[in-house]
Amino acid sequence: MGERSAIGIDLGGTQVRVALVEGGEVRRRAAARTDVEGGPAAVLQQFKHLIGTICGVEERAHLAGVGISAPGPLDSETGTILRIPTLPKWEGFALREVLATDLGLPVLLENDGVAAAFGEWLYGAGRGLRHLVYVTVSTGVGGGVVVDGRLLHGRRGMAGHVGHLRMALEGPVCSCGTIGCFEAFAAGPALGRRARREATMHPEGLLGIWSASQIIEGRHVVEGARQSDPTCLALLREEAAYLGAGFTSLIHLFSPERIIMGGGVSQAFDLLIDDIHAVIRRDAIEPFKDVPVVRAGLGENSGLVGAAALVSEAVNRRN
Ligand SMILES: [Zn+2]
Repeated sequence: MGERSAIGIDLGGTQVRVALVEGGEVRRRAAARTDVEGGPAAVLQQFKHLIGTICGVEERAHLAGVGISAPGPLDSETGTILRIPTLPKWEGFALREVLATDLGLPVLLENDGVAAAFGEWLYGAGRGLRHLVYVTVSTGVGGGVVVDGRLLHGRRGMAGHVGHLRMALEGPVCSCGTIGCFEAFAAGPALGRRARREATMHPEGLLGIWSASQIIEGRHVVEGARQSDPTCLALLREEAAYLGAGFTSLIHLFSPERIIMGGGVSQAFDLLIDDIHAVIRRDAIEPFKDVPVVRAGLGENSGLVGAAALVSEAVNRRN
């Protein structure tokens, strides 16, 4: 018997994405700008509307369920949002229960990093492995861990917040309020901040020139590096040093066979990877030095596909 299809939802601070997923493949998709002002009630309407556009009533009866990938921290055991910095009205919202009642379908809520780790494990760059760490590097740094052939959940399903691994006692302030987290050094906005500083110091470089007409962000560094701008190349070497340091700690903690990197910053994967590997070769304890870092196989769909696969699996287990 083939795997039943499921709906995957990616709830983000800027976009809500919904997909019909079957055997790891996105069959149909729809998206909308997140109604941040409207809060949970308005976004639930968006979910239902988007599901309606990709999945007819007849088809809906055959679905395994709906898997939601959302930013954490959230309690995946009770299906409750705890706090989403970009969605302030959602604190304590029992998303799983409310949506399951509304739709009459099984619903599962998972942290976006954990859902993406599951998607990559089943259908992406982690297929066939027993141990892996997935890290997404974008506006923040998040992730998920598979050890001993199982997705790591921890208390209240909150394990795998790899972005808040503390790298220094002094340094940039993190989105969580603490100082010196991996995320505060390595996420896209941190790269953007360093780039703006360099643009001011080197007005003759590409970043300096571009800064006259636009606000410099991380993506400009990648663009400049592709044009061999020395400042941009140096900024990416520094970015790789932070990523390499964080990944080395994750390798020591979980002994994965592979680190899988996703998120917006992974657009520069080809420019970063040699330097990331050099840091791991230099700093990891001897038997860990050969652990490779690879790019996510499902791109921006890791979380959607993973959330859909998680609800399919949960429903299969129950039957
Ligand atoms: Zn933090």
